Amino acid sequence: MAIEPTTTENGLRLGDIEFIWARNSRDFFFSNSILIHDSQTTIVDPSSNFTYLEQLASRKVVQQVLNTHYHVDHRSLNHLFRNCQFICHEKDLAAILSFDNYLKYADSERNSDYVLWLKNIFSSLEILDGYVSILLKDGDLVPLKDHAVRVLHIPGHTPGHLALFFEDIDLLYTSDIDLTPLGPWYANISSDIDQFLASIRRVKLFHSRYYATSHGGRIYDREQFLEKLEKFESAFEKRDTRILEALNERPRDLKELSQIGIIFKSSQLSDPLKACFERQMVEKHLERFEKQGKIYQENGIWRLT
Ligand SMILES: [Zn+2]
Repeated sequence: MAIEPTTTENGLRLGDIEFIWARNSRDFFFSNSILIHDSQTTIVDPSSNFTYLEQLASRKVVQQVLNTHYHVDHRSLNHLFRNCQFICHEKDLAAILSFDNYLKYADSERNSDYVLWLKNIFSSLEILDGYVSILLKDGDLVPLKDHAVRVLHIPGHTPGHLALFFEDIDLLYTSDIDLTPLGPWYANISSDIDQFLASIRRVKLFHSRYYATSHGGRIYDREQFLEKLEKFESAFEKRDTRILEALNERPRDLKELSQIGIIFKSSQLSDPLKACFERQMVEKHLERFEKQGKIYQENGIWRLT
């Protein structure tokens, strides 16, 4: 018999799989968490709800912590869980083990507002350097005793970004293929647009009854998921088009292209952090166009070929 979802105080439960929806907080960076009730109780991305996660940690019921990728908003409460096994994909290992590596993955400008912001939040969250005991790769089963949770490697957002397929409840968790209205986020050196697109195509073809993501407190059926995913995916093309139109008007450098408002609205770019993200994501599109032979650069000025 199919398992139906029931709402809980902190989110939603499907059988032994408990979704804890992110509660916005000033004290940590948040994303949804998943608690897998198993003989090997496991928490995925502990970053949702300080009060509840602290209770779980103090009851010492959690034996494993799985991070779907290295980003701070997916492991900002990892430190509450002591004496656990920590799990991630092998390609995100370096950025979890060492904050220096995190910075190398983040931004080529070593003193950008983004880097300064990261230094601040990491020192306040006690997660400068992490610890990992189990590495996963595509197709692996998460080490559980009573449930089958299959790993899908969906790189692009980060090199080791993971989706999880919960076989017992027929649900695919796509983490930061998160369907948010802003669209895909790839403002890291380690992000890759082509990989991101391939990963979107992969989850699109993955049939399951339910879907969930790391941001937004709900589950989707397949029809709802596909509708949101189409919009999410189309952001890449819209951004491409805006950049090519701007270069068709006249050649421009990265700085000028980053002030138009290709990713964020131009009114949001007064926020230094968003301005950094804008620069990095526009640069990703330019590098990709250059590889495709659509544009070239001379003295920092980009032109159509
Ligand atoms: Zn992320």
